[in-house]
Amino acid sequence: MSNDQFVKNIASREEEYSRWYTDVVNKAQLAEWSLVHGCMVIRPYGYALWEQMQQLLDRRFKATGHQNAYFPLLIPESLLAREAEHVEGFAPEVAWVTRGGNKELEEPWAVRPTSEAIICPIYAKWVQSYRDLPILINQWNSVVRWEERPRAFLRTLEFLWQEGHTCHATPDEADERARMMLEVYRRFLEDDLAIPVVPGVKSDSEKFAGALRTYTVEAMMGGKYWALQSGTSHNLGDHFGRVFGIEFLDRDGQRKFAFNTSWGLSHRTVGAIVMVHGDDAGLKLPPKVAPIQVIVVPIWRKSDDARAIEAAVDRITALLALVARVKVDWRDDRTAGYKFNDWELKGVPLRLEVGPRDVANEQAVLVRRDTREKLTVPLANLAPTVERLLAEIQTNLFAAAKRMLDAHTVAVATYDELKERVAANAGWSLAHWCGDAACEAQVKAETKATIRCIPLELPREPGLCILCGAASERRVVFARAY
Ligand SMILES: [Zn+2]
Repeated sequence: MSNDQFVKNIASREEEYSRWYTDVVNKAQLAEWSLVHGCMVIRPYGYALWEQMQQLLDRRFKATGHQNAYFPLLIPESLLAREAEHVEGFAPEVAWVTRGGNKELEEPWAVRPTSEAIICPIYAKWVQSYRDLPILINQWNSVVRWEERPRAFLRTLEFLWQEGHTCHATPDEADERARMMLEVYRRFLEDDLAIPVVPGVKSDSEKFAGALRTYTVEAMMGGKYWALQSGTSHNLGDHFGRVFGIEFLDRDGQRKFAFNTSWGLSHRTVGAIVMVHGDDAGLKLPPKVAPIQVIVVPIWRKSDDARAIEAAVDRITALLALVARVKVDWRDDRTAGYKFNDWELKGVPLRLEVGPRDVANEQAVLVRRDTREKLTVPLANLAPTVERLLAEIQTNLFAAAKRMLDAHTVAVATYDELKERVAANAGWSLAHWCGDAACEAQVKAETKATIRCIPLELPREPGLCILCGAASERRVVFARAY
């Protein structure tokens, strides 16, 4: 096996999708398993990607009026237990601290699976009057949910995420906020990550424990066309307000309970980037979040004038510094072919090659990761060309993902059709459902497909439930999910 093949050596995406995914995560050096079961080490390249994502999403939160804060990691059992549905929903996944130093604790403390139960009692202290509302806070942290069958980024015992928690005077304002944040997630996924999503509402059995209504953005992954829940936004109604005593004096002189929302997006979306855009050569990172947007590979032989190449590379990086995140691969123990494969695997959107002939001609060669198209560009035009190509790659990745979503989403008329599609990993099915949890549960038990969402943008259409034949107002999305 040649050196060049060795660096890739990843499974075929078509034939062994799961192994391909694991290979890409490991070999692109995004992450690897730690010595703690179910917990990943996110390596510098993977973390740099997460940081880019974090910055863009954080900017969107700030632009919609939110501030960041930080609340404790540990939650006393008595607090977590106050909202019955909430504690019941999370019980199977909660990790507990029972000892502090050498002493048994009088009451166990949960490692936060989510922070409503520690945040709401504080909001109860902060809120006295309608003038104290709304509260618009987000926190970046990690949470722990016990996981028996971990998968890199998609299901890990500890995961990085953000959780927003807002508090409002009226139910309408809370619902409006929950929908606003769903739209923030949609814009982030579509515009920044180039991942098209279907926004919708969760069925009662799939909604967040304790929520009145859960909104979700669902994305289609490559390979088996399964769904990934990529961000959720919950209208919590006044359940948490009542339970935790978030009470305020309203304009009309009445004491009222406040209305809450919470919303979260996690590092699962890193897994989504891998699965939606990747190919047999590895990752394909959307330029907006790629830690390195242009990798410069100088090509020279011993006999060449190394100084002339160095001077040209310096000039190129100076030209590009203002328009792109650039890195130069100066490794002298690797062939150019090895480097090409390595940076393809890592998904860098543009490769820039510069050799002695390019130096003499005042030019450089650009290679796109998405189409592999090769262009020779005069240095004088380099910066605007790179800027244009990065924007084109971003658009192109979204268009390809949208084609996949559209091509593999099909309206079905019968349960048999749905079963066949699920069994064949053919994609998502739009089917009529009466709204009864029993019909939903039967599909899940027999096919493993779940209702991913009731799409917000699908028009109402009278029909008959594909299970029981009862009247249905609209189609819902059935699919297998990660
Ligand atoms: Zn039914």
